[in-house]
Amino acid sequence: MDNIFFKTGRFNSKKLYKRLNPPHKFFQFSESRGIISIMAFKYSKMFTQRTNEQKLALTQSELDEIKADCEKLDKENDAEYQTAATKNNELVKELKQIHSGNSLLVKYLEKNAVVKKNWFNNIGSYENLIRDIKNLKEEQERAKMVAKVEHARKDQVQRAVIFLNNKSLKLGEDFNLDDAVAQANNIRFEELKAEAIANGGVDDFNGMNCDTDCGWDGVSHRCNCGNRRVDWSWDGDFDNMYIYGEAY
Ligand SMILES: [Zn+2]
Repeated sequence: MDNIFFKTGRFNSKKLYKRLNPPHKFFQFSESRGIISIMAFKYSKMFTQRTNEQKLALTQSELDEIKADCEKLDKENDAEYQTAATKNNELVKELKQIHSGNSLLVKYLEKNAVVKKNWFNNIGSYENLIRDIKNLKEEQERAKMVAKVEHARKDQVQRAVIFLNNKSLKLGEDFNLDDAVAQANNIRFEELKAEAIANGGVDDFNGMNCDTDCGWDGVSHRCNCGNRRVDWSWDGDFDNMYIYGEAY
């Protein structure tokens, strides 16, 4: 080895390093051709080639199996790294004994120390898979909620059209789909108010805190004793609406 250093002068340390045939080569060979690449091949399908539907269809026992495999591979990856790192350190130590600490080759080896590689980086991991499944399930739930709301809204519009038709109002002439619900609600509100007023108003209203047994006729701006300002409110929709007096 001494010959190589002294003869080349300003040598190319990388080229030289290759001629030394260090354990790095073993590590690299093992990494690209060994069990890790075989498993990476298997798991590339597992993680990256699964469709969302396939991910969601994984059973708990399948997930457990993947988890166990990942843990096993992680261990092997760790052992592989330890072996290569130990050999690299031994080589640096030996070279330091042969050359001074300023040797470019030693510097090169230290700079290019074996880095712990996680082959999961390229193909995802069990944790990523679990996270994907969780996100997909949440997305599904959101879509279900949106569909439910959308369905309820369409159903309400449909009911409003029937309600308004029964009042001899025509779609496209007297109302359109965008304001059918609002119009139906208004009509029903006015009907219920007229009925309540004809019946003499209400004995009680929200926020009534009058001294005497008060009430409201449903028309005046104030309750019978004049203590509170009251107006009508409604809840539900045109098909199941109820109205009540409310102080404000
Ligand atoms: Zn009152």
